Order: sequence, then C-alpha cells, then structure tokens
Amino acid sequence: MATIEHLSSDSLGRARANRRTGPARLAWLCALSWLLAACATTAGPRPRAYAPPTAVTSSTILQPPALPTQVELDYLARAKTPAALLRRAWLELLVRRPQAALDSAAQVLYGPFPPSANDESFARYLRAQAWTQLGKAERGQYDRERAAELAMDVELRRLLLADSAPAEASAPKLASLDLALQDRATWKARAVVRKELKPMTPITRLTIHHSAMYFRDTRPAACAAQILRIQHEHMQGRGYGDIGYHFLIDPSGRIWKGRGLEWQGAHADGDNNVGNVGICLLGNFLRGRSGQGPTAAQVESMQRLVVGLMRKYRIDAEAIYCHKDLKPTECPGPLMVPVVNQMVRELQRHGTARFADLAAGL
Ligand SMILES: [Zn+2]
Repeated sequence: MATIEHLSSDSLGRARANRRTGPARLAWLCALSWLLAACATTAGPRPRAYAPPTAVTSSTILQPPALPTQVELDYLARAKTPAALLRRAWLELLVRRPQAALDSAAQVLYGPFPPSANDESFARYLRAQAWTQLGKAERGQYDRERAAELAMDVELRRLLLADSAPAEASAPKLASLDLALQDRATWKARAVVRKELKPMTPITRLTIHHSAMYFRDTRPAACAAQILRIQHEHMQGRGYGDIGYHFLIDPSGRIWKGRGLEWQGAHADGDNNVGNVGICLLGNFLRGRSGQGPTAAQVESMQRLVVGLMRKYRIDAEAIYCHKDLKPTECPGPLMVPVVNQMVRELQRHGTARFADLAAGL
C-alpha cells in the first residue's frame, strides 16, 4: 500500500508545514492522517502508524522516539491518557522544555482521576527531572522521594537509585543491616492456642494484605508493639489461635515472623487459607486522609520474601494473590494492588531470576 504510505507521510508533512496557519486546519489534517493510518490496518501490509503508548512502563515512556521528536509531540498534543501524557512529558524533557513537562506531568497527578501508584511514580520522576532542568533540583526533592516510594518498574527504580546514590553513599543501607527475619520473641508474641490451629497442608499459594491502620513508624520497638496489637486483636477479638498472618513487613522493610508456617493461616477466609501463606504489610494503603503508599523498602522486602517463598515451595507467579482476589474486600488497598500486580507481571515475564530472594530463615 505504497499510496497510503505516501499520502500519510505527505499529509503529515503538510500538517507540520501548516502549523502556523490555523489550528482548525491542523486538526483536520491530523484527523485525516489518523484515518488513513486506521484504514491501513484493514488493507494488508501497512506503513508504520504511530500508536500512542497505552501502558505506563519504562519501555513505553522512557524510550528514545521512533519518529522525529517534534512529530511525536505533535501526535501527542491532545493527549488525555496517563500513558500519553507521561510520554509527552518525557519528550518535552528531551527537547528541553521543562515547564511544559511539569504541566504534562501535573495533568496526570491532578487530573480528574487519582493516578495509580505506578502512574504517579513516573509523573513524579518526570517532574523531578524537569525541576533539575530548570536549575531548581531542590524543588523536585519531594517528587523524587515519592517516586522512589512508589516505583515498581525495575528500570525506573534503577534511575531513581542512580539519582540518589551520591547523597546516600555515606549512609549505611538499612535493608542490608536489618532485613534478617525478626523472630517471634522480638515482638514478645503470646503463646499460641494449639486447639484453635490447623496444621498447614502443602504450600501452594500466597496472599498479600495490608494492616489497614496508618503506620509509618520504623523504630523496632514501635513495630513490635504494633504486631503484638494485631495478635491481640486476632486472638482476643476474633478467637484465633495466633496472629493470622505468617509474615509482617514494617515500613523500614524489616520482616517479622508471625504464625509459624507449620500452621494454616487465618487471613483469607475459610478454605482460602488452605496452603496459603499470609503476608501483611503494616500500613493503610487506601486512598484518602488516613491512607498512605507502601514504602520502597517495604515493597523491596515483600519481593524478596515472595521470591524466597516461591523458590522454596515452588509456588507459581499465578498463585500470588491480593486479598481482594479471594473475597470482596479492598485489602491490600488501591495504593498497593497495582504494586503487587506489577510484581506478578514481572515474575510471570522473567521468572524469579531478576529478583533477590530471602532464603535464609524461611
Ligand atoms: Zn487482607
């Protein structure tokens, strides 16, 4: 379909040449080139039509342009979706228009719909980059920190770490010092009531929860007290034989042992607990005033724990659940669900090889 290709690029060329002659005409020509590109899909071999990104990942947003940058920017001039807006912000940074990039990213952050954690991580990263281009890196500090808290995309996290490396080089990394599993004595666990417990059957799946209580404290004693409080609520309040979860992860990324893996958990309702390891991240990952996102350290520890369990018990990526996959509940909250889903997608695509695990002590 050489004619279509010719017409398509010709009309695009005219559209560009006529940019100053009237927005209505430009819009009409853009519509025509879109129409031609759309027609080409039903007409055999087709020219490479531009398709705006639909997913928000480093490989769709942070890639060099396949078209001349300004041409791609023209296509994205009316972008409305987060993916297209974020792509536009990144291209605007490429052509050093940081103010425009700030505006594009702001449309994702403050648009009519609250952004997903993943979309927000990219928007905040791009805003931080824009502030740096404007010579006001300090104004992007909050965006950078928030992006680091939320980022699940492996490449985005690498970029954020590389950005922050000089400043943090002298500080010891908490995770490497303190990630060892905290045993039950550390949080002064009450003894279990055996008659209320069932032995665990072979482990085949695992489920992620949030504690649904706002919690940002990283001090070991405060975290231990919080876990003891949950055990008390589960035993006294609900009559369980022990805390319902097998593992809990505090905001600094420490992993605490809850119910022993020799016992079936009590976290997912009835038979959903069979062969199911329960992992609870401390925090309330709902949107709203008492909501919060999981910390980057918490997410990192969750991944290590999940990968360690997957390897030890030969659990498939398909058998990693959010609580809400098993029963009607918001748990682990809309700020956490996309993070889990992203992890599962990564694990489905690449297996566990890319992730560090936490084999010791499981
Ligand atoms: Zn839950």
